[in-house]
Amino acid sequence: MLLTEWRLPTIKHLWEALAEQSNREGWPAERFPSALCEHEVNERQMRRIDRHRLESCLPPDKRLSDFDFAAVPTVSKAHVTALAEGDSWLEPGANLLVFGPPGVGKTHLVAGIGHELIAKGYRVLFTRTSDLVQRLQAARRDLRLPAELTKLDRFDLLICNDFSYVRRDQAETSVLFELIAERYERKCLAITANQPFSGWDHVFAEPAMTLAAVDRLVHHASIFEMNVESFRRRSAQKGLAPF
Ligand code: ADP
Ligand code: MG
Repeated sequence: MLLTEWRLPTIKHLWEALAEQSNREGWPAERFPSALCEHEVNERQMRRIDRHRLESCLPPDKRLSDFDFAAVPTVSKAHVTALAEGDSWLEPGANLLVFGPPGVGKTHLVAGIGHELIAKGYRVLFTRTSDLVQRLQAARRDLRLPAELTKLDRFDLLICNDFSYVRRDQAETSVLFELIAERYERKCLAITANQPFSGWDHVFAEPAMTLAAVDRLVHHASIFEMNVESFRRRSAQKGLAPF
């Protein structure tokens, strides 16, 4: 459900009803303005969260509440719940790395965590890694890569989906390395990848860069290996739609 669907009425709409309630119940003088302010603060907070959800580009329907943890025994629900709380890993700029073959729920899981973090007031951006590389490359061409990286700093968590689909011949991926180095120990990255680190040599320009990138990514990281059968395939076998 979108927050807008149950948004509180604004002060303009609310004050008459509150004034009436205040008169009826004989509130002390200070209670009326404080009740109005409380509503206004709540309203602003909800509008901010709405904005953050919109800017995040998260797939709207991938929530943790719909994620079947029993299907992925290697992923601890308690660990995911702790990550969804935010502070313990977002403040020190740790990372989340999710590996597994296609269809096992990597995107669903990180998107679900992203939604929870937004509800807690954090800012999240979900992007396909290849789109991000293009955006950063364009910035480098215009000599504004540092400014573009700084712009991404406003997101507490940057989710790079399908990391290992990037090919160094498609794009100049040293911008990805600069992103990783720039956010290291400051701002979080979540990465989903079909291939383990050993298959990342095609992502970066040279093996030394792959090594340096992986080193920074894993230094403070939660790593989930989702080596289970594709949820899509299982759903198809059971005759259930995965959506
Ligand atoms: P991946 O990113 O690993 O390729 P997705 O996250 O896109 O996989 O999952 C494929 C489909 O299966 C999506 O529709 C997703 O919502 C669903 N799905 C996968 N794993 C689960 C799960 N454990 N619980 C509920 N739905 C799941
Ligand atoms: Mg995916």
